[in-house]
Amino acid sequence: MGGGATGVELAAELTHVANLLRQYGMPEMSASRLQVDLLEAGPSILPALPARISQAARRELQRLGVVVRENTRVTRADEQGYVDQNGDLIAADLMVWAAGVKAPDFIRDLNYFELGRGGQIVVKPGLQSSVDDSIWVLGDCAACQQPDGSWVPPRAQSAHQMASHIASSIRRQMKGKPVKPYLYKDHGSLVNLSRYSTVGSLMGNLSGGTMFVEGKIARLMYMSLYRMHQLSIHGWLKGACLILAQKVGHMVQPKIKLH
Ligand SMILES: Cc1cc2nc3c(=O)[nH]c(=O)nc-3n(C[C@H](O)[C@H](O)[C@H](O)COP(=O)(O)OP(=O)(O)OC[C@H]3O[C@@H](n4cnc5c(N)ncnc54)[C@H](O)[C@@H]3O)c2cc1C
Repeated sequence: MGGGATGVELAAELTHVANLLRQYGMPEMSASRLQVDLLEAGPSILPALPARISQAARRELQRLGVVVRENTRVTRADEQGYVDQNGDLIAADLMVWAAGVKAPDFIRDLNYFELGRGGQIVVKPGLQSSVDDSIWVLGDCAACQQPDGSWVPPRAQSAHQMASHIASSIRRQMKGKPVKPYLYKDHGSLVNLSRYSTVGSLMGNLSGGTMFVEGKIARLMYMSLYRMHQLSIHGWLKGACLILAQKVGHMVQPKIKLH
């Protein structure tokens, strides 16, 4: 349950794995025998992304046989399944909770910080905690409000930008200069629907506006982005060896993880 990127990607991945199971001693199994219900409290899945992306993802999921239930707020879960706001039971053998991020409880237990939604630490515009300027907060655990009132989303790209911003802010502070506010730059998002499709958008410098991408091109971008991350983490030589080893591994290893 939870129609964010994690829930959407998992729904497609489960369908893909169900189709592979016949190769692993379950000849009767296929995605047609699996019912995946994706429950979303809000009016649309992928609420943080543009409507065009959620529509494309919904279309693709429905094509795969996933039942997309929007405006469905789960109020209870028991051994029979989920119960929604109308008291209706959505029967399930397996329930997965993917309803967003929450900061670890020890942050609350410190009883020091001002906390936002999900227990994140509320920060000033420059990413210092609201209660103590000497504590910088970045990534998923930061509740950072932007000038337009929106909150910085918990994404890898925001964590990366925040790290760079804090590094330059500390250097500015050491030179006696004031800390500048952090402004989130959305470079777009890609949601990968297993082997079936990828949908997303590219924004800003990359496309000179908002560019909607779908299908094979989006999948190629998703894979390239993953490879670029590998190369930037491991360097060119180790990264290239890793990519080659993975290609060989794909040829000899099972298609689904067996342990
Ligand atoms: C399934 C999934 C898919 C995602 N896909 C995307 C995507 O496509 N694009 C995107 O931009 N973002 C994506 N995200 C979000 C992205 O992963 C996060 O926003 C990003 O990793 C946040 O970075 P972070 O450093 O704040 O936190 P994390 O990457 O979560 O790192 C926090 C680390 O702190 C460790 N830790 C926690 N508590 C303690 C403790 N008490 N002591 C010591 N260590 C501790 C944790 O083990 C973890 O390693 C995805 C997230 C998930 C779950």
